[in-house]
Amino acid sequence: MPRWHRGRVVLMGDAAWCLTLYSGMGASSGIAGGELLGTMLQRHGDDLPAALDAWEARMRPFIGHQQDTILSMRRLFTPDDRREQLLRTGMLRLMRAPGIGRAMSKIMAKDMQAKNLDVAAA
Ligand SMILES: Cc1cc2nc3c(=O)[nH]c(=O)nc-3n(C[C@H](O)[C@H](O)[C@H](O)COP(=O)(O)OP(=O)(O)OC[C@H]3O[C@@H](n4cnc5c(N)ncnc54)[C@H](O)[C@@H]3O)c2cc1C
Repeated sequence: MPRWHRGRVVLMGDAAWCLTLYSGMGASSGIAGGELLGTMLQRHGDDLPAALDAWEARMRPFIGHQQDTILSMRRLFTPDDRREQLLRTGMLRLMRAPGIGRAMSKIMAKDMQAKNLDVAAA
């Protein structure tokens, strides 16, 4: 959705960004979104539009990142065809290989950093 608020009405959690099984983070981002909204309302006093704009500006990149992982993670949960099945098996085997596994963990750690970002701490 292009906007998560209009006037005094705010969409939050699944109603706004609806993350999926593939990305995870649905409950976490709903709770963090609520906490951040409280912070922004407090910070901007009576200026509700400024509070809601600031809230959305901070939430959007975070949620966008989670949404971006949906299509790639889908392959891991529900491979579409034989090729994706083989790819998943190969990746899981590689992750167990000593040198390669460590390198892959580093790559995945970058993604986990974005997942673990405390978006509510603004
Ligand atoms: C099987 C499953 C496993 C999950 N596992 C995880 C997990 O491990 N980690 C994670 O982060 N997320 C997980 N999620 C996602 C997570 O549950 C949701 O993202 C999260 O609950 C969304 O919270 P929400 O408050 O936005 O919506 P909801 O929890 O759906 O709350 C919406 C509420 O609004 C009520 N409602 C609806 N219509 C009306 C109405 N007209 N009037 C009044 N009330 C209404 C509903 O009854 C509901 O109580 C999982 C989801 C499922 C289905």
